[in-house]
Amino acid sequence: MTSLILSSPLRGFALALDEVPDPVFAQKMLGDGVAVDPTGDCLHAPCDGTVISVHASRHAVTLRADEGAEILMHIGIDTVALGGAGFRTHVSEGQRVLRGDPLVSFDLDALLPQARAVVTPILLTNPEQFRIARRETGKAVGVGEALFFVEPLEAAVAGAALAQGEVCSVDLLVPMIHGIHARPAARIAECARGFIAEATLAKGDKTGSARSPVALLALGVRCQDEITLRTEGPDAPEALRALVELISSGMGESAEAAAPAQPAPPAPELPALPAGWLGGVTAAPGLAIGKVRWLRHVEREIPTYSDDPVKEVQRLNAALADLGQRLADRAQGEHGSVAQAHLALLEDPELRVATDRGLAQGHSADFAWRSAMRAQADVMRATGDRRLAERADDFLDLERQVLALLAGEEPEARLDLPEDTLLLAEDLLPSHVMALDLAKVRGFATMRGGPTSHVAILAGGMNLPALVALGDNLRALEDGALVILDAGRGAINPAPDEAALTQARDTIAAEATRRAAALAAAGELARTACGTRIEAFANLGSAQDAQVAMAHGAEGSGLLRTEFLFLESATAPDEDQQAAQYQAIADAMQGRPVIVRLMDIGGDKPAPFLPMAPEENPALGLRGIRVGLDRPDLLRSQLRGILKVQPLGQCRIMVPMVASLAELRAVRGALDAARAEMGITETIPLGIMVETPAAAVTADLLAAEADFLSVGSNDLTQYVLAMDRGNPAVAPGIDGLHPAILRLIGQTCQGAAQHNRWVGVCGGLASDPLAVPILLGLGITELSSTPAQVPAIKAAIRAVTLEACRTLAAEALALSDAAQVRALARSFQEKLA
Ligand code: PEP
Ligand code: MG
Repeated sequence: MTSLILSSPLRGFALALDEVPDPVFAQKMLGDGVAVDPTGDCLHAPCDGTVISVHASRHAVTLRADEGAEILMHIGIDTVALGGAGFRTHVSEGQRVLRGDPLVSFDLDALLPQARAVVTPILLTNPEQFRIARRETGKAVGVGEALFFVEPLEAAVAGAALAQGEVCSVDLLVPMIHGIHARPAARIAECARGFIAEATLAKGDKTGSARSPVALLALGVRCQDEITLRTEGPDAPEALRALVELISSGMGESAEAAAPAQPAPPAPELPALPAGWLGGVTAAPGLAIGKVRWLRHVEREIPTYSDDPVKEVQRLNAALADLGQRLADRAQGEHGSVAQAHLALLEDPELRVATDRGLAQGHSADFAWRSAMRAQADVMRATGDRRLAERADDFLDLERQVLALLAGEEPEARLDLPEDTLLLAEDLLPSHVMALDLAKVRGFATMRGGPTSHVAILAGGMNLPALVALGDNLRALEDGALVILDAGRGAINPAPDEAALTQARDTIAAEATRRAAALAAAGELARTACGTRIEAFANLGSAQDAQVAMAHGAEGSGLLRTEFLFLESATAPDEDQQAAQYQAIADAMQGRPVIVRLMDIGGDKPAPFLPMAPEENPALGLRGIRVGLDRPDLLRSQLRGILKVQPLGQCRIMVPMVASLAELRAVRGALDAARAEMGITETIPLGIMVETPAAAVTADLLAAEADFLSVGSNDLTQYVLAMDRGNPAVAPGIDGLHPAILRLIGQTCQGAAQHNRWVGVCGGLASDPLAVPILLGLGITELSSTPAQVPAIKAAIRAVTLEACRTLAAEALALSDAAQVRALARSFQEKLA
């Protein structure tokens, strides 16, 4: 028997048992534990284990944890009387479940009026063997967050000192390029909430709970700041390790990850603005003509006090649950990342504590919530950090939406605007932008705001020209005025003459035609103007990417970065977990080929479940397939996970970071062994990534045994130019169009051609329309780009003949640097237009 952490089976508010309005539970007659007052509507497994019983009325489930503890979960009080109405079970007796698996769904709205209470006790029912060492109560909890720590009785004696609270701490530098902003803060909090130990993060003399994104944001932590992480509790060392790994990984936002593989060409000098124009900051580029319409915020009237605190808590809980559900739904959709960030803030325990403080003083739910949000917005502004100050809007947005729900109104009410509106406002909130009717609104401009705010991110995603930070000058524009918003130039022409309007209309029409043509043709297979078929694939890192790829006409995936699927996993995913993820992506790609890259861990891509010893030169160390060969167990489970995907053959396999034929042979051996174990006689295409100069130079040898080759131009560029792809100091020099790289790509194509193997590109170069003609001229026949870029890549393919591409490529190979190649490619493109 060993100790275990039980995570919350419900989203809701955790209470001590003595707060349950029933003596049977409050006096622990059925067992010791914790209760959760639910805001969610599904009971999940609090640990891995086996279902011992499901009550006939479906309102109670008992599990035996793998460690031996027995847990009874009883949804609501006196709910047995409902005879199962409103409950739906997902499991049956004897079934094995994993932590987080759904057990019972229930209709919370239907239960509330019928049950005496919906509070759900979660009890340990074999106290002769286990005891509760620590519990988390008096706070909001999400499904999967640590709720209590259970340990065997014999360990309770021996480990009493430890359970009192071991303390661990460490100093580290923050690698995230934008510091700890909303998304990393949410992930750190999520990680911290998985442990019993209290975790805090300190910068200078400021300290915040690691469980609270709000507290973390308020620290104003920037890239390379030194922070101190401290954990205290029975699982303090584990909590510290997990947090350190998460933060040190950079969460995909380390300076390395942020450094562009292909730096954008320097922006041309823009001429000064003509007299009278209003200058602002580009939030999303584009040109728009529209009639000014001001959105003036009216402060909502709300009651300050209430004499019924219980009712106020219920109103607030209902509004928070409603908004939480809406945000969770939106998080799955088009503007998912912003909704996800808002959801994390909504669930922040510190906001709830601040609001509860207001309620305890007799304030109405509306007033208490608004005060908590405004205070937090002020904290963000006071950090003095521009990016964090922009996050203040996110709190004001949550304020607005919850107040609307408390007033019984729709939080996302669409603004009723006339055609061709150019929306002006002092400031806009993300939910305003999400609710804009794109058939009517041509663009927007605000007096305040910043270019990295969620409002700006949303505008970019919606292709809506937008300017922010125009200041008080914007007030000069009156409702009804016809103006030109040139967001790319960062300006508004407040009084355009007829010639300016005509020119703007022509530019808008040409751009719209280009974009529409590319998107309309995105569903058709890509062929060059001379009829040669080129595969236009997309790179994927999630099932959501697959949906975007399909919507943009991807013909398959040339690179599924499997390590991205398990960035949150503290333990190595087993073959079934992997198979489920790959199957979901294969299904989303509707039968199109999916090239699954074996995990590329190490170097710039650490994985939380595979701690690696520090290396002096990680990019030259244990990474890519070297890790897989070092850990045959991991390689085997991944190969088996891929082979489980149906239909067999939709997923092909690609080996990262190959430097020699022996590595490919070893992987083929492991693949053949996995196939034999699984009784699979069909062969599965096995290809390699060309990311090392060695692979490019020996492509003829590798192609004799590889079924296909795909150039990973990001890594190939760093290794060929000896420039760390993550080092901002050398970023301007890292350009995959350098003739040295082009020569190696050409050599790869020639080597592959000797064995009739195809060569693709799946690095950043494949997403650059300027590079397309040169790559085709070198012999590339598959391009795997970022999902949204597929239409533009297809358009670039359709615009050229192979003959012209070959001539262009030959000229490029004779040049001496990337800038010259770019200039050549640009003049080629201009001649096509
Ligand atoms: C590459 O190196 O070009 C590549 C596609 O792999 P990653 O960017 O994932 O290292
Ligand atoms: Mg790579």
